[in-house]
Amino acid sequence: MVTEVSSTDDVRAKAENALARCGVELGAFKGDAITARTPVTGAALFGLRADTPADVDRAVEAAQAAFLDWRTTPAPARGALVKRFGELLTEHKQDLADLVTVEAGKIRSEALGEVQEMIDICDFAVGLSRQLYGRTMPSERPGHRLMETWHPLGVVGVISAFNFPVAVWAWNATVALVCGDTVVWKPSELTPLTALACTALLDRACTETGAPAHLNQVVLGASEIGERLVDSPLVPLISATGSTRMGRAVGPRVAARFGRSILELGGNNAAVVTPSADLALTVNAAVFAAAGTAGQRCTTLRRLIVHADIADTVVEQLTAAYRRLPIGDPFQDATLVGPLVNEASYDRMRASLARAVEEGGTLCVGGERQLSDVAPDSFYVRPAIVRMPEQTAVVREETFAPILYVLTYRDLGEAIRLHNDVPQGLSSGIFTADQSEAERFLAADGADCGIVNVNIGTSGAEIGGAFGGEKETGGGRESGSDAWRAYMRRATNTVNYSGQVALAQGVDFSR
Ligand code: NAD
Repeated sequence: MVTEVSSTDDVRAKAENALARCGVELGAFKGDAITARTPVTGAALFGLRADTPADVDRAVEAAQAAFLDWRTTPAPARGALVKRFGELLTEHKQDLADLVTVEAGKIRSEALGEVQEMIDICDFAVGLSRQLYGRTMPSERPGHRLMETWHPLGVVGVISAFNFPVAVWAWNATVALVCGDTVVWKPSELTPLTALACTALLDRACTETGAPAHLNQVVLGASEIGERLVDSPLVPLISATGSTRMGRAVGPRVAARFGRSILELGGNNAAVVTPSADLALTVNAAVFAAAGTAGQRCTTLRRLIVHADIADTVVEQLTAAYRRLPIGDPFQDATLVGPLVNEASYDRMRASLARAVEEGGTLCVGGERQLSDVAPDSFYVRPAIVRMPEQTAVVREETFAPILYVLTYRDLGEAIRLHNDVPQGLSSGIFTADQSEAERFLAADGADCGIVNVNIGTSGAEIGGAFGGEKETGGGRESGSDAWRAYMRRATNTVNYSGQVALAQGVDFSR
């Protein structure tokens, strides 16, 4: 049991020290437009200035000017910048993890994991800088060569969410930089400090490697600052991570000016548990996936679809594990569940739990606030499990809080139908020891998500694969595999060395 919470002064001091070590002169950013808060105590830490729409325009213009140099810098030399950045991230891993805990409330291990994810994507991007391969294809015409080349695209606008305040930006920025693009970053208004620290480290890497200044710009502010970026004709690609509500606003605006977007939006992730599943493994994996990060991951497990014969046993074991979860100060090593980001999150959780009960659900555990006596402005909560008789309206929505709905099924086809019968399509899993069940889940008529796992929970993806989801999750892909192609412009080149005019498809235009 975790019973104490750090004082706001301690949290503020941690933030100040981490920022100073990363090279941020906080005084330069002080103001009264944005309040940097910590969910650890719920208190305000610093007042910061916000950027104006005109500042966004200036940042985009500076990034565009830098792009004109950067696009002709050889890709392996661009990789050298990202290599140095990765080294600085390694050096400042603790500092950045401190800031992630201060602003997003992540427990130590997850905060360190998030920074490790940045370091991993730097390694990936450095390798990629020597592998931006184009294809050559056989031409149908004699004496002709047909090939594809990939060129830098321009300024990439990155809009990020509070719950992955640094990793998602790094997925985008490191890949975009080796692709020859430059970046303007609009972080969540809830996590400006981590953004300032990352930007300072990247600026230092630029100076040390001789890369052009202004390759990465950060603009602070709320949605109107994001909107300015979204509407900028100088930004050919917007990569936006956040709620489906945000994506619904951003997607059409970018499309209206024929820009491209990568949308990484809300999830409503489910796992199917079959009778052959290893229950100890399943329960362990499900507790992390559903309660980890206090239910505030896009990939959080929100629905567990369990075979009716084992549902009582699974719910009993999960409930017992939930009762033992140490909830509290994320800076303490014993803690596994930190705070919700703010009061609005807690209110949404309470409202969804009330609706679930109205819709026929039975609350098995959780939902009650913790530690409000020692930190009255914070919102720690015991993760909740609700058994539902069917997939009702509330279950089909994403509530960004730790609520796990348990549904039952009798046959695997029914489980897959339930699994897919939600508007979102991010991450999924099946727990089974039966290979044919696993294969059915992975097949074309199986789970309809961008991430489909076997004997693994829905959260905690590795950077090597492409990350993203279908349907209302937005369809974007970021991070590993061939996601880099979205950050480049493809040109198809045909070279005629035959000395004759030869038209494709046998067209004869001779006179
Ligand atoms: P949010 O949608 O409130 O905000 C995300 C970002 O979008 C913020 O920077 C915000 O200022 C900006 N924004 C909001 N409206 C905008 C607009 N109209 N134009 C431009 N920018 C706008 O999300 P949040 O509360 O920070 O994060 C939680 C949500 O993000 C959840 O739904 C979660 O599932 C989702 N998420 C998805 C992924 C993914 O990869 N699919 C990853 C992390 C979080």
